[in-house]
Amino acid sequence: MNIEIIDLDFMDEEQVIASFLLLADDGSSAAIIETGPTTCLERLKAGLKDHGVSHEDVRQVFLTHIHLDHAGASGHLAEVLPNATFYVHEVGYPHLVDPSKLVKSATRIYGESMNELWGEARPVPEDRVVIMKESGEAEAAGGVLVAHDTPGHAYHHLAYLEPDSGALFAGDVAGIRLPGQSYVRPPTPPPEIDVEAWVRSIEHIREIAPASLWPTHFGSYEDVNRHLGELEQRLQDWLLFVEGRMDEGAEREEISEELKAKGDAEMLAEGADTGQSGQYDMAGNYPMLTDGLMRYVTRRREKR
Ligand SMILES: [Zn+2]
Repeated sequence: MNIEIIDLDFMDEEQVIASFLLLADDGSSAAIIETGPTTCLERLKAGLKDHGVSHEDVRQVFLTHIHLDHAGASGHLAEVLPNATFYVHEVGYPHLVDPSKLVKSATRIYGESMNELWGEARPVPEDRVVIMKESGEAEAAGGVLVAHDTPGHAYHHLAYLEPDSGALFAGDVAGIRLPGQSYVRPPTPPPEIDVEAWVRSIEHIREIAPASLWPTHFGSYEDVNRHLGELEQRLQDWLLFVEGRMDEGAEREEISEELKAKGDAEMLAEGADTGQSGQYDMAGNYPMLTDGLMRYVTRRREKR
């Protein structure tokens, strides 16, 4: 099979959100991993056309998790792709067939920008959705994909391995990284991040030993161990930093600004082109990442 990246040009910005297109060698069928948001639907359809894929050819749509930047266009896409079955984690399933709760909770985070960013989320008919669990396999473009339970960024998160090439479609569990950069930013938005579970998922990915990582934000990378090591270290480091500042009584805005300064310095130290920090921000900005980490710290303390 062939693997292609469709750049969804989110908010007219390149290399922020990807959809991955799998094409059967004989051209008879195709599969998609990640739909992107509804605001990118026309771009996704244009991407299919560019690769000579008819709407009837797409048989499977795989979702890593149901956040709107990854799966928001699912309901619209179910109407456009008559033969496609949608694959999702069991905890994501109810939100895919009825996105009303998801939209409500996203509105709390994004407020008035909801529509401009994500557009409308429509339900996917129940008989078009299949639940995937750890090690579950599904046909895809003349081959198979294997699901791996990888919580951390979200409780309900799957990564999908294509065993022939060793490509792992990682959603958000392998962080945010842009082409040409080595820097990996951990996407830690509220409400569900769980750093302990995330570190276990990184270990799980090491055991799977993929040949390449394909984060939705954005592209594909072959320095798997280095990438995962950097992500794990930065997750732990950022958590300690945020927790320490909370203990010192710092407020959210202050912590967010400090985390940004810290992150920018880390990017520079890695020789990164900070011209791309805007694209990193679009996939995960500091106020949101700070909120998620602070919430995790608070929740973990309440449990003790
Ligand atoms: Zn995302």
